[in-house]
Parts: sequence; C-alpha cells; structure tokens
Amino acid sequence: MSTLDPEDWDAFRTAANTMLDASIEKFQLAREGRVWTPTPGALKARLARDLPAQPGGLDTITKQLIELLPYGVGNTHPRFFGWVHGAGSPGNLIAEIAAAALNANCGGRDHVGIYIERQVVDWCRTLFAFPQSASGLIVSGTSMATIIAAKTARDRALDYESRQQGVSGARLVGYTSAEAHACLARAFDMIGLGTDALRKVAVMPDFQIDLDDLRQQVARDRADGLQPFFLAGTAGTVNTGAIDDLSALAKFAADEQLWFHVDGAFGACAITAQNIAPRLRGIERADSLAFDFHKWMHVNYDAGCVLIRDAAAHRKAFANRPDYLAADGQALAGGEPWPVDFGPELSRGFRALKVWAHLQEHGTEKIGEAIARNCEQAAHLGALVDAHPDFELLAAVTLNICCFRYVRPGLSESELDELNESLIAKIQMAGTAAPSSTRINGRLAIRVNITNHRTRIEDVELLLRTLADISAAS
Ligand SMILES: *Cc1c(COP(=O)(O)O)cnc(C)c1O
Repeated sequence: MSTLDPEDWDAFRTAANTMLDASIEKFQLAREGRVWTPTPGALKARLARDLPAQPGGLDTITKQLIELLPYGVGNTHPRFFGWVHGAGSPGNLIAEIAAAALNANCGGRDHVGIYIERQVVDWCRTLFAFPQSASGLIVSGTSMATIIAAKTARDRALDYESRQQGVSGARLVGYTSAEAHACLARAFDMIGLGTDALRKVAVMPDFQIDLDDLRQQVARDRADGLQPFFLAGTAGTVNTGAIDDLSALAKFAADEQLWFHVDGAFGACAITAQNIAPRLRGIERADSLAFDFHKWMHVNYDAGCVLIRDAAAHRKAFANRPDYLAADGQALAGGEPWPVDFGPELSRGFRALKVWAHLQEHGTEKIGEAIARNCEQAAHLGALVDAHPDFELLAAVTLNICCFRYVRPGLSESELDELNESLIAKIQMAGTAAPSSTRINGRLAIRVNITNHRTRIEDVELLLRTLADISAAS
C-alpha cells in the first residue's frame, strides 16, 4: 500500500533540512542584493506546465522551491518601502514548521490550537484595553476582519433578522473618511448594503476625518429617513499615516448610537511604541477593531485580528452550527466556544501559532521600538526632502510615511506626474529600493512607507541619493 508519506525518511529529512537552510539564509542575507527582482521569463514558462499525474520526486521539488526564493515581493529587504508590507522574521520559520506538523483545523473542538488562539486574542484585548468580555478571531488580515466587524454591526442594527431575511429594504448607512482604505467599501459591498451606503466624509488638511462634515452628513441622512448605524475611524491611513481623532469619534458614535469601528491595520500596532500610543487614545472605546500582525508587527503573511466588544453580538452574527456539530460536545467535541461561531470559515488553519510564538520571542517593547525607529526614519527622510532643491514634500510626515516628488522647473503637472511615476519604476527595476506611488491632492507622489524592522537611517539616505541620481539622468 502506498501512502503519501515518504518511502525514505532519511532522504526526506535531508530535503527538509536543505529547504530550512536555504530559508534561514534568505533571512540572514536579507540586507544584501536587490530589493525586488522580476520573475525571469524562463521560470514563468516553467510555471505553465500541465497538472502532474505522476510523482515528481522530493529532490526535484525542493530544488524548485529553493529557486523561487529570490523572486518574492522584496518586503524582507530593508529598502522595501512600498504600500504597507511587513518585513517578516525568521522565527516564523520555526512556528510554521510546528503548525504544519500539527496540521490542526482551528474551526473548533478541544485541542491545543483553540487554547493558543484564545491566548493570542486575550493578549490583543490587553494590548488595546478592550474588556475581558470582548471576543476576537485571528483572520487572514484586516480585509476579512473588517467584513466580520461590519456584518456584526449590520446584524445587530437589524435585530439579527437580516441573517434570515437579507437586507432588501434596509436603509442602513455608514461613514468613514475619504482617506479610508478600500476594504471598508468592499465590506459594505459584501454584506449587501452596497458601497453607496458607506459615506465618504471629507478630511482636514492633515488628512484626519472632518467631524463637522461627519455631523452634517449624519444629520442629512437622518432627515432623509435613512438609518445611520456605523462609523469607521482609521488609525494610520495608507496614504499618509494619518490617525483620526479616535476619542472624538468614539464620543460622536456614542451620542449618535453608531457602531464605532477602527481600521488599525498597521497603525494600531503603534500602541506598542510609548511615544505614539497617546495618539491612539480612544481605540479602547471601539465596538470593533481590525488590525494586522503581518504589517508593523512583522509576523509572516498572513495574519490579522478582529476584536469585538459585544461578544454576544459577534456570535449571533455568525453562529449556525448544524446538529452534528452541536454545542455541549464531550471530549474532543468540546472546547467551546469554537472559532467557527465567530467568522465565516469552518475549516481554519493555525495562524495563531506563529503570532503566539512571535509575540513571545520578541515581546511588545522590542516591536514598539522598531515602530518608533521607523517613524524617526520617515521624519528624517522628510527633513532631507525638505532641504533638497529638487524634491518637495507633498504631505507632512506624521507617522511612518513620507510622500514627496521630484520637481523640475518648466514641467506641467501632468509631466511631473509622469516623470515621478517613471522614477518609481526605475528605482524598483534598478533593485536599489522599492517605494510605491499614490496621489496627494491630485499630485503623483513617491510614497515611502517604512514598516520594516531591518531599515536603517542609511537606507533612506541611499534611497533619496539614488532617486536624485536617476532623476538627474531622466
Ligand atoms: C493593509 C490595510 C488594510 C487591508 O488589510 P489586509 O491585511 O491587506 O487585508 C486595510 N486598512 C489599512 C489602513 C491598511 O493599511
């Protein structure tokens, strides 16, 4: 009888060790070489093969796996500055081996995975000063966390009848700032309210939500017979890192009886940095909080979390177990409450394990120090840009993001946009650094986001020097 287990365990051990060594080396040499390397044509061609019917052999597969390692996004490199990506950490290699060995289904039942996830959620409650009664779930990321939070808010607002009857005729509307992440609109789409039901509130010059505009929009919707139910603040916007006034939003939401959600995808983690934590005040008053471990906490992809203050509402919005999975189970069927009752997935991987190991290996203080350092690096870059005759800042640096552009006299706005777009592509292709782009007040910006514990001050200096060289030659 042939199982899927190796016939030769020694050969398997050798292959596994080879892979482990290559993976450790990738992290050890993270500072060296190119940031991003395009996937070579020959490799792409090999990735278009037919579905194998016959065994390929472990050595061949291991070799193929190792060949992939140089062609990732580049976010393990200290000069990866694009979007908001975490830099990962080697400790995760060990935890992921343990997770693979356990091969646990973390939807429920009585096994160690359930207790690890509970421990992680409990740590998160503590970190964000949520009450002990709050519920939480480890998920793929903030997008999923947001969908879970928005669905819970929706169902509570409709007395949970929406779970059977749907939302046709519902007049629910929600609010967030024009700088908020697109995952909020997608959540409104996915919970059946539609993206139009999520109002975009104006921002102030510092990109924080404008409370006057919020107040007016809510009043207008109420006057029109609509039912405002949801308000999302952002702790760290993707464009500039702006943190909304969360205390003011919490108060407004309480006064207006709105569900107060915070998108803290990366910014919420700055609560671990002593000098930034005060700016997040009010986060502890949220009805729900969505954030990621895979960004500024550097847990390897993917891992995020949703915390929900009203655990009963959370459960009522998701629980629907058939009899064969009924509660009050004995022995292995015990372990209540089960994660499956708090989210859309039945079978669930063991994401919580790498988070649990990571937080224990490093502790929140060290993570917070790396976060504070990134903010100093962004401020340093901002000062360099400000002092440089050929570059201009497009937004004040308030957290870890610096948006600026190259300027050349005589060029129109659209020519400047094109030129800056091409500079970003050129420095990415050169392999020196990987910033990304955005638009700030309509202008194309070179956007440098620093969520990277490997970044040093000389890395941001090298970035600006290289951009100056490339632009002079463009
Ligand atoms: C990254 C991000 C998201 C989406 O999170 P995922 O983990 O990618 O699903 C949402 N909001 C903000 C502010 C983000 O930076």
